Amino acid sequence: MDGSTRGGGHSDALRNYTLGRTLGIGTFGKVKIAEHKLTGHRVAIKIINCRQMRNMEMEEKAKREIKILKLFIHPHIIRLYEVIYTPTDIYVVMEYCKYGELFDYIVEKGRLQEVEARRIFQQIISGVEYCHRNMVVHRDLKPENLLLDSKYNVKLADFGLSNVMHDGHFLKTSCGSPNYAAPEVISGRLYAGPEVDVWSCGVILYALLCGTLPFDDENIPNLFKKIKGGIYTLPSHLSALARDLIPRMLVVEPMKRITIREIREHQWFQNRLPRYLAVPPPDTAQQAKMIDEDTLRDVVKMGFNKDDVCESLCSRLQNEATVAYYLLLDNRFRATSGYLGADYQESMDRNLNQLASSESASSGTRNYVPGSSDPHSSGLRTHYPVERKWALGLQSRAHPREIMIEVLKALQELNVSWKKNGHYNMKCRWCPGFSEAHDMLDASNSFDSTIMDNDDANGKLPAVIKFEIQLYKTRDEKYLLDMQRVTGPQLLFLDFCADFLTKLRVL
Ligand code: ADP
Repeated sequence: MDGSTRGGGHSDALRNYTLGRTLGIGTFGKVKIAEHKLTGHRVAIKIINCRQMRNMEMEEKAKREIKILKLFIHPHIIRLYEVIYTPTDIYVVMEYCKYGELFDYIVEKGRLQEVEARRIFQQIISGVEYCHRNMVVHRDLKPENLLLDSKYNVKLADFGLSNVMHDGHFLKTSCGSPNYAAPEVISGRLYAGPEVDVWSCGVILYALLCGTLPFDDENIPNLFKKIKGGIYTLPSHLSALARDLIPRMLVVEPMKRITIREIREHQWFQNRLPRYLAVPPPDTAQQAKMIDEDTLRDVVKMGFNKDDVCESLCSRLQNEATVAYYLLLDNRFRATSGYLGADYQESMDRNLNQLASSESASSGTRNYVPGSSDPHSSGLRTHYPVERKWALGLQSRAHPREIMIEVLKALQELNVSWKKNGHYNMKCRWCPGFSEAHDMLDASNSFDSTIMDNDDANGKLPAVIKFEIQLYKTRDEKYLLDMQRVTGPQLLFLDFCADFLTKLRVL
């Protein structure tokens, strides 16, 4: 890294950073790598020269990008940490994306394997969905505006063309790159917004899976003709589900085009969907209220006042403390691999039929060790990969089917009633000293019916514990059995857990 005085007179404004090499040159100016001195974390700093910007009449574009990025907190949208204004320059300090543009990645690798393409596509869709939920249409989605971090996770960037949606108002500006632009955009027709991003995502998905563009022509009028006519070919190597999804996204008539919600529900998208992407993202107002306590503690240790930091975070103020907070927060989530964040929801749903048909079969699952997670942690932690310290859980390297057989056997022996939400997720009910046949809860709402929760019990009814069991796959190819009490006395639940562990021969 250079000394901060060497980056072209940026020394005072960027006193909290050590400037490094130039990462790229964009419309507004250079983007440089830098190190945040307080936390030691790497960032990218976009240096916008005000004079040049005014000449290019790009002030609005830059302001728009800053305004939007400042509000957004999402694992697949580039994070903006701070904006430093000087009379001559604007410094936009943002998340550093080690592997640069997705465009270069596709060019280098050619078409991607379906598993990798899907992982990238799922991330893009979750970022786009977050934008739409917050009333922003990106309008210029293309692999050049999608950056890759050190783990090849996608980050949506370049919100310069984005427009804030207004209900009932149509966007009138024609913009974006022709190859990725929707037919209604290049036709200059009024268009409502989110569908144009869906089209661009369809082109991106095609590019990921095929390594080429669906609509391409050196001659622009010809290119427009192809886009407006929706004329493209699907190569034969595509899987049946991908062949189904792409044409639904590349529907010329915007109102007939698949929506983000429907993409989410599509079988191709749902396959290997990570758990943290399976839930819709929170909106920005909700997020402002969430504070990660561990990160807050670290910031306080740096010498900031806790109440001031909390207030600044809630009010979305930018100051040294909040910049440090977000840098620490992001790096904490990036560095760790919490099982909720990293794992596939889907992977647990494979072999379902096999499991169903052989529940009664017996097989040994004896290599359990205590797990380490806390599924109840609050705030952002529910939405991001998290390092979890504690768990009431068990880990095993056995086959998930074998694990579930052992679990079901133990539950049966303990007279637990259960209702399956999936083959690896069950709602359970246990009444001590109460003998019931298992799997009696067939009606979906019977679980929440008239059984009194224990805290309210008047002594006439036996205590009831309701809990959930979920088997997760961890990153290191282990399976983690997680049990969460829903209602009922905690101590009784612990008694039950002890019996359960004994049945599993862990204790
Ligand atoms: P443009 O204005 O043309 O959209 P940018 O100014 O956003 O381009 O970026 C220029 C180049 O700098 C990008 O192509 C990319 O290679 C690099 N770059 C931009 N932002 C980052 C980042 N956050 N992390 C790493 N590289 C980046």
